[in-house]
Amino acid sequence: MSTNLQTPIDYLKGVGPNRADLLRKELGIHTYQDLINLFPNRYLDRTQYYKINQLQPNASEVQIVGKIIKFEEVAQKRGKRLVATFKDETGTMELVWFRGQKWIRESLKLNTPYVIFGKTNLFANKFSMPHPDIELLSEHQANLRSNMQAIYPSTEKLSNKGISNRVMTKIMQNLFLETKGKFAETLSKNLLKENQLISKPEALFNIHFPQNQEALSKAKFRLKFEELFYIQLQLILKNLINKKKIKGLPFDKVGEHFNNFYKHHLPFELTNAQKRVLKEIRSDLGSHAQMNRLLQGDVGSGKTIVALMSILMALDNGYQACLMAPTEILSVQHYNGLVELCKDLKIRIKLLTGSSKTSERKEIHNLLENGELDLLIGTHALLEDKVKFKNLGLAIIDEQHRFGVKQRSKLWKKGPSIILENGEQSAPIPPHILVMTATPIPRTLAMSIYGDLDISIIDELPPGRQAIKTVHRYDNNRLKVFRFIRDEIAKGRQVYIVYPLIQESAQMDYKDLMDGYESIARDFPAPKYQISIVHGQMKPADKDFEMQRFAKGETQIMVATTVIEVGVNVPNASVMIIESAERFGLSQLHQLRGRVGRGAAQSYCILMTSHKLSENSKTRIQTMCQTNDGFEIAEVDLKLRGPGDVMGTQQSGVLNLRIADVVKDSNILQHARYWAKQLLSKDPSLSHPENAVILNTYRQMAKFKNIWNYIS
Ligand code: ADP
Ligand code: MG
Repeated sequence: MSTNLQTPIDYLKGVGPNRADLLRKELGIHTYQDLINLFPNRYLDRTQYYKINQLQPNASEVQIVGKIIKFEEVAQKRGKRLVATFKDETGTMELVWFRGQKWIRESLKLNTPYVIFGKTNLFANKFSMPHPDIELLSEHQANLRSNMQAIYPSTEKLSNKGISNRVMTKIMQNLFLETKGKFAETLSKNLLKENQLISKPEALFNIHFPQNQEALSKAKFRLKFEELFYIQLQLILKNLINKKKIKGLPFDKVGEHFNNFYKHHLPFELTNAQKRVLKEIRSDLGSHAQMNRLLQGDVGSGKTIVALMSILMALDNGYQACLMAPTEILSVQHYNGLVELCKDLKIRIKLLTGSSKTSERKEIHNLLENGELDLLIGTHALLEDKVKFKNLGLAIIDEQHRFGVKQRSKLWKKGPSIILENGEQSAPIPPHILVMTATPIPRTLAMSIYGDLDISIIDELPPGRQAIKTVHRYDNNRLKVFRFIRDEIAKGRQVYIVYPLIQESAQMDYKDLMDGYESIARDFPAPKYQISIVHGQMKPADKDFEMQRFAKGETQIMVATTVIEVGVNVPNASVMIIESAERFGLSQLHQLRGRVGRGAAQSYCILMTSHKLSENSKTRIQTMCQTNDGFEIAEVDLKLRGPGDVMGTQQSGVLNLRIADVVKDSNILQHARYWAKQLLSKDPSLSHPENAVILNTYRQMAKFKNIWNYIS
């Protein structure tokens, strides 16, 4: 009989109420189970012992046996430090403590064999070890100690309160002793066999007390597989359940608007990728289940037309649609663009943003509720409770990464009710949802983050686009860059010059922008040259006015902060200059670059930087110069920043994995997903006896919320 792992941690030998409290608060460890799942961050290889005369500068941690022969307190600028002279048969070195001196002085004995372990410094020809891990040689030998020592996650508070790594290890040992290491298996025999996984008890023992690297890597593989497997299982189940449970509004026909537009007003031939994606959307909309689809497509891949044609399908079936964008500029642009595209169709479109006047809002609210408006475009303003649709059938969110799950679920509630057979009104039926993003991420990662969404990808740019040429220039080459701009303008082209915008130092950025603007104005004097400027401190109406001037070609140069980052479309602009490019993240650089290369002309992106570049900035700049492929760039970005940062906090919960890493372990992830799918296709209700263990584990995890909830 195995121990109940839900036992509170207070009951474990060596813990007690105070420590239990600390463990709860600092590490979220409440139960035996939580503790066993506290996996080490790293391991120290303690198979080796060093002699003092073998020490090398800049080596990693070393382990030495010796005795303390003297203590000394040394005054320093603030307070004092405790220095012990440590001796073995080959020489002496110093052990140094800056904190906890009283306790150390009292508990360490002179002339007694100790084992010390830690990093050494070399100073004035003498090695020293600050805050060594120190233990009596006799205890060291008596301990159930493995050769590879686990280092557990910790916090300052824990170490200050005496829960050192050694204490943590001891507590973990107690857990294994008390439970005799009898942990229940959590995967089926079949999965273990097919994937050559070691058993759960063996894996747990070896993750905490590995005897060697090989045992450790087997343990890691098994535990990562398990973690990813259960997440995938949950995602796939959720998706299956959604499809069954959530009734969708049936869009049964392809009607007049769609056909008319397709036959007579389509401004260009759709790419194959656009056609494929439209088919995917159409089959969702016709399926009588609610669509929840993510449309990924690089900047300029033509997501807007796909959005429009989906909207037309909604209208043809008697429903309204809305399109939400993260910024005012982008909403206005979508509005103008779609009004233009639909000018020969009889469609009623309105724009609603934060700066819409009260009277306009009222009118829009009324039109919407009466069903006299077909399409509403706008910002977050669409989410307000006052905005009620008569029968919203499709909601599209552009640039999904700017919105959270919460906003998506708000849109859900704006769907219409229907009359039920018994004559009563149903609860609102959620509209179909299409979210679009130009921040592409690798498919496997997308699956684990947006697991509740189906995914469509536009992986092809419209024909005739020339690859944008990207170069890196240092600040002192600015005059040459200006000459280049002049030549391009002489050819009739337009130019963006973008300055960084960082929230914390908005003031400074504003100054940079204005200084830059002045120097550009000097080199590009009116009336020959006209310059627009757009930044975050301007009123939306003024921003819009300047954007429009540029879009109409009345100005040749647009000086701006990153407010133009998303979606802005001026096909005649062919040069993008990014100032202080080292201050931008990769995906931002890619987004900015995507503002050019939208017309037929050869386009250029010039990344201006100072000479001082960190390794990380160098990689970003190089990547930009080497490739235009958004997916490739996204992969580099993920490696540089990690998925949590790339995806934003809204989605990072799911990335909060215990042992696996969705990027580094993407092979295991794919593997785990494959097996989860296999399992559910053969045994959808997990009712076969051999899968009982999986069902049980899954239920346990759900019960104790060890599985993440993806969407409200
Ligand atoms: P994004 O995916 O970045 O939102 P857009 O929808 O704004 O891209 O499209 C970028 C540009 O490409 C627009 O000017 C649009 O008119 C044009 N475009 C889109 N699809 C095609 C196509 N199939 N053929 C030619 N041009 C296209
Ligand atoms: Mg777009």
